[in-house]
Amino acid sequence: MVQEQIERAAEHLGIPRNAVEIMKRPKQALIVHFPVRMDDGTIRVFEGYRVQHNDAIGPTKGGIRFHPGVTLDEVKALSMWMTFKCGVAGLPYGGAKGGVAVDPHSLSEGELERLSRGYMEAVAQVVGPDKDIPAPDVYTNPQVMGWMMDTFSRLHGTFTPGVITGKPVVIGGSLGRSDATGRGCVTAIAEAAKDIGLQLQGASVAVQGFGNAGRTAAKLLANLGCKVVAVSDSKGALYDPSGLDLPRVIRAKEAGNLLDYGPQRIDSSELLELDVDILIPAALEGVITGANAPRIKARIVAEAANGPTTPEADRILHDQGIMVIPDILANSGGVTVSYFEWVQNLTNDYWSEDEVNQRLQRAMVKAYRHVRQTADQHQVDLRTAAFMIAMQRVYEAMKARGWV
Ligand code: GLU
Repeated sequence: MVQEQIERAAEHLGIPRNAVEIMKRPKQALIVHFPVRMDDGTIRVFEGYRVQHNDAIGPTKGGIRFHPGVTLDEVKALSMWMTFKCGVAGLPYGGAKGGVAVDPHSLSEGELERLSRGYMEAVAQVVGPDKDIPAPDVYTNPQVMGWMMDTFSRLHGTFTPGVITGKPVVIGGSLGRSDATGRGCVTAIAEAAKDIGLQLQGASVAVQGFGNAGRTAAKLLANLGCKVVAVSDSKGALYDPSGLDLPRVIRAKEAGNLLDYGPQRIDSSELLELDVDILIPAALEGVITGANAPRIKARIVAEAANGPTTPEADRILHDQGIMVIPDILANSGGVTVSYFEWVQNLTNDYWSEDEVNQRLQRAMVKAYRHVRQTADQHQVDLRTAAFMIAMQRVYEAMKARGWV
């Protein structure tokens, strides 16, 4: 998918073929196997990855995913999206990603801590505050970042908060980081809604995935007057055309099962095809495909997840006049505030939540406007425009460094 997206943007860019070839593959991929002692005394050996795609612009950046479906190929693609995400957001970073194939929900707290520390110890050689800076991703959280920061700091004998972002605030995390992905996504949606003349007041919203990004986006859109009619997670989906009671949905989710909300259930696959104004895929890759894209009715698809739409589906949605705010723009609020966190760590100067949110708002509006303008100028969709902006920047950095 990401290689096809690169090629599509390259058609409209005057950059040399060599540069495109470099961007189509990650620079390096580390595969590690590390032992973790389980509560019953046995040792389990886990396979983990850290892939660094391109570091022309700066140290690489990107989250760590703990999910049973993680593969090296997936982590490679995710590392590439990170390079272009940082590029379109104008951050001084390249892209990377990490992952372990594990279901963290099957682990005890102690096992999860030992897994997190074991992973960091195994990849410590290739990460660092001016080398590669991890962060949370699917099924990892501030506590996991805290353990990893501690392990890295112990290995080096130096307190090193800048090695990882998304930490608990008390050890150098940034205020506003937890909400940043969802908040940034909502800012992009608000800009897009203005562009197509959609009133947010009363607009209907469906959210696929109720993790950090999906939950925050749902909450903030409800605050803006939207009607959140459907949400789903890995267990199933809820739908109420008159609007879900979001605080109650969140309580059900936090108590362990989203579906305990009530009988308003639909099949998860139906959620994507509901007649809503705004659809937010906020879970995993490849959910909007050539098969279901013809049935999608939303006016705006805002990709809080990475890679939810296949290139074939992209073409179909574009032909149907549906506006897709691409992942590398729509979910770039997360890494943008990660950058703010890293700056605060390196300067030891900490900002208020208002300051963080205002800077995030400005950054998202600016990135959105730039992408929109590029799309209009070249008559391409927003994803192609976002890739064009990012690839141009990566190319110029590679050229300035004498790589191409
Ligand atoms: N995992 C997030 C993403 O996919 C955040 C990455 C970061 O903050 O470095 O963008």
